[in-house]
Amino acid sequence: MTTPSATYSLYFTGSGSGGNLSVGASAAVLERNNKPLLLIDCGPGTLNAFAERYQGALPSAIFITHGHLDHIADLEILTVRARLKNTPPIPLYVPVELIPLLHQRLATYPGQMAEGDHDFWQSFQLRPVSERFICEGEEFHIHKTRHHGPGSSYALQLPGYFFYSGDTRPIPELLHHISLRSEVIFHDCGLHSNPSHTGLEDLTREYRDDVRSRCVLYHYDDANAGEALKAAGYDIAEPGKCFLINSPASSSSTSEQ
Ligand SMILES: [Zn+2]
Repeated sequence: MTTPSATYSLYFTGSGSGGNLSVGASAAVLERNNKPLLLIDCGPGTLNAFAERYQGALPSAIFITHGHLDHIADLEILTVRARLKNTPPIPLYVPVELIPLLHQRLATYPGQMAEGDHDFWQSFQLRPVSERFICEGEEFHIHKTRHHGPGSSYALQLPGYFFYSGDTRPIPELLHHISLRSEVIFHDCGLHSNPSHTGLEDLTREYRDDVRSRCVLYHYDDANAGEALKAAGYDIAEPGKCFLINSPASSSSTSEQ
């Protein structure tokens, strides 16, 4: 359902890990014809970076990959800004299994605003997502990844265009079999692996060369770590960097027999 004549790009407001936000909290904006279509995650500082790029605007739609605060903290700020600007509820696409956690972490604080009755959800239109969803005519797919408990973190795919891993250990079962050859893969990766995240040494062990060559790495510790990932031959996301993701209209799967 993508528009062949449209230009698609992914703009990073931040590309860091939760423990060190010197390169911002990892979050990105899908743009269509240079206009923001969908914000992926909303951690600390994301809203200000978003406003800086889009002339003070608030996001018009958001997808949440998982419930760690470095990916959702600014939603609390957003509920206040949306209320003060009197904007219509912002569509918030959330994998069904994440909804109780999101509610618990962000929406149960009593009397969230002093200025009259207002609770967290009044600023949002909750859009529960099972496997796929449509936003502004574009059909997105979600996939369970490997980040802490099963079903607690999700990748986002715009088939044929991009695959955004979210926080995860390597996911060859998805990238070798579900991702399409034309997709740019934005992948969690720091210098060193740990039980929750991918590290540089994981990539060569887990992925075929043609998959690694499509990877753009994000969610690393700091600028030095980013430089080391670049020195290892990978493209990396950085705050303020924008990636063109136009599909060459290929829809063949990378899956091999
Ligand atoms: Zn996380």
